[in-house]
Amino acid sequence: MDVVNCLQQHHIKPSLQRIAIMSYLMEHHTHPTVDEIYQALAQSIPTLSKTTVYNTLKLLSDHGAATTLTIDERNTCYDAVTQPHGHFLCKKCGRIYDMPSISDTTQVEESVMDGHTVQEIHHYYKGICKHCSSLMSQAQQEHS
Ligand SMILES: [Zn+2]
Ligand SMILES: [Zn+2]
Repeated sequence: MDVVNCLQQHHIKPSLQRIAIMSYLMEHHTHPTVDEIYQALAQSIPTLSKTTVYNTLKLLSDHGAATTLTIDERNTCYDAVTQPHGHFLCKKCGRIYDMPSISDTTQVEESVMDGHTVQEIHHYYKGICKHCSSLMSQAQQEHS
């Protein structure tokens, strides 16, 4: 989807900085943090501040254009994919991977549960990712 369209659909006025931040999120499915986005965009947008990045991400997630992830308690991460899906955090490299959504829970997305209106569902998994575990087993083999 076009970035400007996407912002307008979520009733967000498409300013230059908002477009840049939203496109970064849509192009990088790595669940970036405020710092990562700021560092990536600061060169091309000299007027950009970290506060603007933070406020824009908050605006995007308040309007449902992005999701805020708190899987990593040290860093808040952002995701342009707003369809419900799980996340896996590798405790070793800190990378966040998308996990398939759990079919039972997609049914209740944005529905009413016990009288409450559900707007977001988060599934967080933590462990060691496949890349780190293969590196670890390689290292073990080299030492034995
Ligand atoms: Zn890892
Ligand atoms: Zn994700």
